[in-house]
Amino acid sequence: MRIRDHLALAGEPAFRFRQIIAAWQASSAVTFDDGHALPVRLRADLAERFGPQLHPLTALDVQRDEQVEKVLFASDSGARIETVVSHYRAGWDSMCISSQAGCGLGCTFCATGAVGLIRNLPADAIAAQVMHPRWTRAGQPRPTSVAFMGMGEALANPHVFDALTLLTDPAYAGMSARRITVSTVGFAPNLERLVNEHPQVGVTLSVHSPFPTERAGIIPLEERFPLEQSLEILDRHAETRRRKVFLAYLLIADVNDSDEHLSALAALILERSRAELFHVSVIRYNEAAGAHPDYRAPASKRVDEFVRELTARGIHATRRRQFGTSIDAACGQLHARYLSPPPRGTMPAGAELIPVAPTGG
Ligand code: SF4
Repeated sequence: MRIRDHLALAGEPAFRFRQIIAAWQASSAVTFDDGHALPVRLRADLAERFGPQLHPLTALDVQRDEQVEKVLFASDSGARIETVVSHYRAGWDSMCISSQAGCGLGCTFCATGAVGLIRNLPADAIAAQVMHPRWTRAGQPRPTSVAFMGMGEALANPHVFDALTLLTDPAYAGMSARRITVSTVGFAPNLERLVNEHPQVGVTLSVHSPFPTERAGIIPLEERFPLEQSLEILDRHAETRRRKVFLAYLLIADVNDSDEHLSALAALILERSRAELFHVSVIRYNEAAGAHPDYRAPASKRVDEFVRELTARGIHATRRRQFGTSIDAACGQLHARYLSPPPRGTMPAGAELIPVAPTGG
């Protein structure tokens, strides 16, 4: 985005941006100087302005299991973030990307929340997770779908809107907006903006408790933007755009998995104006370092029962498949293995997340 804006201001023709993207995706191109289709003076100008590296992300570390690949990237600002690709046996790939280094919202089930916000990622570093040449080098096609479910609350970072524009821009990633999902714990003002500016992008709202006081203990943002505010925005969205809306429900043993929770959650959904367009994804809690020490995973059969009971009450519900538990790579809980949380407020500029257990690769 910064490069495209700079080219436009400098009066360069539009095809120059496409040439940079082509160089970006060429497996051999590392610096602006490797972009041989560009005039020498432009290469020098871009290198002076944006640094010599063509790409805003450098892969530092990789972990893999049978179905999941997790990459630790460093951005050109020094922030360290994770990106996860899940390979489905049906032949498609789903990518989980980060929008922030750390996160300031402090959800009590989340390792990233325990670190605090380090910085918002710029739009190009968000989109570059999808476009990074390491995927093409490894022979992987562009992912079938992309979810903003990695590190950070996507809607707390205003650069996410530019990143969505880049990802759907035919001159850049050219993805269908319907293949992109933004996950949020309910950052209501930007949720409203998202459904207005990018109505085809999918939305997943984390619920995790139907009871406001309890939810505030799990997702402190509830105190600023109550769940009901986000649900009302999604009601209007479902009604006007007839778009399906996803609600995530993280099931934590003896915290939010009782029959009382189930009934209240069901009631909350059944009172929506287009309840048939709401779909609940029930997720089994994965214990993560830095999260609340009392939280435990429920029995697997309780997750299945919860889904069955919701379905019996007329609600669309499924259990979310979780891959990569052997490498701590389930989307949204990727970070514990890598993060060494510094005391809040002591992070020096440029010193970012520390990989405490690098595995090489
Ligand atoms: S769950 Fe999301 S919003 Fe909450 S602390 Fe973790 S990254 Fe932030």
